[in-house]
Amino acid sequence: GGALQNLTVLGSGVLGSQIALQAAFHGKDVTIYDISETALASLSARWDYLAPLYVQDLTDATPERMAEALGRIRTTSDLADAVVDADLIIEAVPEVLEVKQQTWAEVGRLALEETIFATNSSTFLPSDIAQSTGRPSRFLALHFANEIWRLNIGEVMGHPDTDPDAYEAVAGFAEEIGMVPIRVLREQPGYVLNSLLVPFLWAAGRLLVRGVADPETVDRTWRISTGAPLGPFQFLDIIGMMTPYNLLEDSDDSELRAFADLIKRDYIETGRLGKGAGAGFYDY
Ligand code: NAD
Repeated sequence: GGALQNLTVLGSGVLGSQIALQAAFHGKDVTIYDISETALASLSARWDYLAPLYVQDLTDATPERMAEALGRIRTTSDLADAVVDADLIIEAVPEVLEVKQQTWAEVGRLALEETIFATNSSTFLPSDIAQSTGRPSRFLALHFANEIWRLNIGEVMGHPDTDPDAYEAVAGFAEEIGMVPIRVLREQPGYVLNSLLVPFLWAAGRLLVRGVADPETVDRTWRISTGAPLGPFQFLDIIGMMTPYNLLEDSDDSELRAFADLIKRDYIETGRLGKGAGAGFYDY
């Protein structure tokens, strides 16, 4: 049930697959569109990975419920077909502005007039993309964190011309699919979460580059003195080394570039890519 019953997800990658499964698990009818047939074909491997994690991490997830959820998902590589009956479209295509703008321009021509549009972009502002949709007032951001079934916040952020009804409808949708909606009241690069987390992680990197403390010491200091379960290097291991490396390799700040070089030399080139790879700053 719910006002926004038919969801279309654009992009079937890491986040698109999770958004689709999360919505289907909560009873939505979901269509996944991807430009790549190969990406759509590899969805079955993503389900084989994600469904057991739902069962493991959530008390109300059973193999039967996961099978029912997957039964509510269809896939297509035809964009017109993908958006034909969508109440809400969530875009999770690559983080490249031109790709997002082109995708939204096409969707704006094809979708029903009442369909609401949301981007999951981590770094672009809704106002960077809104005009290309052809219906800026129906466009906003709904930003998820990786592993959305567990780390279940949905940051809702409009641009100055987003229609308040569309904003509230998306916040309500987020709640219906098991997310805690975070109402971001003004456009902010990084939303709330990354506005806090990114400077925190880079501060940890500076301590390491300056030789002030090793990762274990930095993390232990943070855990003991704040009661937080994880320190910054434990977070970086979860995120994986490629993301901080890509973000910092061309930084204007020489200390952050030095952190990127350290990540490359000591971790990427030695295969210690993070928790998912079995080793990063720590061994798992
Ligand atoms: P990804 O590379 O895993 O997936 C992107 C998918 O989009 C691929 O399947 C690709 O084939 C497809 N694609 C490429 N061009 C397309 C097009 N024109 N139309 C439709 N599909 C197209 O990327 P991701 O990590 O899922 O990230 C997607 C979005 O989600 C980005 O905006 C990113 O900022 C955001 N995001 C990512 C994370 C994360 O931790 N990975 C977290 C929050 C938000």
